Amino acid sequence: MTIAKAMHNIEKNLVLVQKKIEQSAISCKRNPEHITLLAVSKTKPIADIIAAYEYGQRDFGENYLQEAEQKIAELTDKDIIWHYIGPIQSNKTRKISELFDWVHSVDRLKIARRLNETHAADKAPLNILLQVNIENEPSKSGILPDEILPLAKQIETFHRLKLRGLMAIPAIHKDPEQQRKPFAQMREALTQLQQIYPDCDTLSMGMTGDMQAAIAEGSTLVRIGTAIFGARANKTTR
Ligand SMILES: *Cc1c(COP(=O)(O)O)cnc(C)c1O
Repeated sequence: MTIAKAMHNIEKNLVLVQKKIEQSAISCKRNPEHITLLAVSKTKPIADIIAAYEYGQRDFGENYLQEAEQKIAELTDKDIIWHYIGPIQSNKTRKISELFDWVHSVDRLKIARRLNETHAADKAPLNILLQVNIENEPSKSGILPDEILPLAKQIETFHRLKLRGLMAIPAIHKDPEQQRKPFAQMREALTQLQQIYPDCDTLSMGMTGDMQAAIAEGSTLVRIGTAIFGARANKTTR
């Protein structure tokens, strides 16, 4: 697809997604400006990222380090804020801390320690979120809610990291009320964390299928792929 064609679709999609965020926020009396749109560009070509960028999108999320490395290298002239949202192998922490501004998927002390060790001292601290397995699903990574405070406490001494909040990927539930439950639990978990760490201002939750429920329960950052860039080839699962 040419950049012009990609631009047309992606621009249209961004308008729709922004509208949906706005409507979801307004319907629960929240300020839409308090919700950041993260465009999840995994598996999508650089032309798509450029199209979204031209339209004004600045935050982009990637899951696969190798793929992200290539894209980031080709887009160094653009003021993009890169978010790493995929699983982290501990031997990849150096690359991740070098390339990204945010890491949403910190789920153990070892990873945090290594990100802290490898993040360049002359750069701004790396923004991190703790990934929470809020529904305790065996197939999902992330810490359990009662592990949040102990891990945050251990991370306190890591001065090249800045703990900004929590991230979750709950299962899709057909019933809208049911869908809100895990997001509500995440909101409560963030409130608890904020009692001790008031700088924690970020709740990364909500994807194409559940952004409305996530926003209703206080999401400050929605991670949207499909609704912006279209369906992906069958490479990823929730
Ligand atoms: C792929 C992915 C998304 C985007 O999902 P969509 O359903 O395409 O919006 C968001 N968050 C994470 C962690 C992902 O892996």
